[in-house]
Amino acid sequence: MSDNRIIDGKAFAAGLRERVAVETDRLKADHGIVPGLAAVLVGEDPASQVYVRNKNRQMVEAGMLSLGETLPEDTTQADLLAVIDKLNADPAVNGILVQLPLPSQIDPNSVIDAIDPAKDVDGFHLRNAGLLATGRDGMVPCTPLGCRMLLEDRLGDLTGLNAVIVGRSNIVGKPMAQLLLDANCTVTVAHSRTDDLPEVCREADILVVAVGRPQMIKGDWIKPGGTVIDVGINRVPGREEGKTRLVGDVDFEAAVEYAGGITPVPGGVGPMTIACLLRNTLVAACRQNGVEVLGI
Ligand code: NDP
Repeated sequence: MSDNRIIDGKAFAAGLRERVAVETDRLKADHGIVPGLAAVLVGEDPASQVYVRNKNRQMVEAGMLSLGETLPEDTTQADLLAVIDKLNADPAVNGILVQLPLPSQIDPNSVIDAIDPAKDVDGFHLRNAGLLATGRDGMVPCTPLGCRMLLEDRLGDLTGLNAVIVGRSNIVGKPMAQLLLDANCTVTVAHSRTDDLPEVCREADILVVAVGRPQMIKGDWIKPGGTVIDVGINRVPGREEGKTRLVGDVDFEAAVEYAGGITPVPGGVGPMTIACLLRNTLVAACRQNGVEVLGI
């Protein structure tokens, strides 16, 4: 297995965070603006707590303000909407992220729709989804944005490439399709009802997989020399008794024998998501203050 097949998302994300930190310093020095992100966490979902803790640390390292709100599991929808209203009105808050999943008494769409689209750094608001779908500038969801950056870093111009995306969720699959269409790929979106998925995958110069099923994509589904972006994060029993480990949606060890480039799990797409969140917060702060965004 030669190393240049591995797409090192961890290293790329570190570089992006560094560029964001430089721009954050410039914004502070030239305009007196410190970008601020409010992450709203409802309840005690352990994976969400880890994500929010990592995010807070990386925000602070990049010189940004991390303004978290943690609310109890039994928070009502009305109470959460009141928190969103307060954050929408707070000029120190440039970005708002509501950590999903939310407890069952809260409708996530109502909450997402209540966020000021200019502060919607996750890019999930209807307005931002519409801007992306019509090829205009808005806030782009972090995970697919990170995938596109990794692809362009590896392959350069993506024009004319055949891209297959497995998964059609609103947070990964659909915005990924828009971004690759925008990059002039020929895009196929596959899902659980797709006929002969292996054959569809074998046509892919670019294969992006966001399904949530451990190692579902087999080595011989990969087009020889193709580029594979594995978004999946699945915790499975480890090789040692009582331990667990993370794997992607792609059978990495088999797929790397076919692929020209492939993201590992962990260390591929995961680190890009938070780095892109920092980037989006910086972009939001610049746009809200009429400052040009440079260098990222
Ligand atoms: P969803 O559950 O919302 O969507 C999964 C998609 O996979 C659906 O479109 C579903 O199809 C499709 N699917 C399910 N089973 C199959 C199958 N057998 N064959 C083909 N398609 C199938 O998941 P998300 O998009 O939210 O997340 C996907 C994965 O990515 C998860 O592992 C998640 O943890 C990870 N993730 C990682 C992030 C990161 O930062 N790296 C960020 C976000 C997610 P259908 O629509 O027909 O049901």
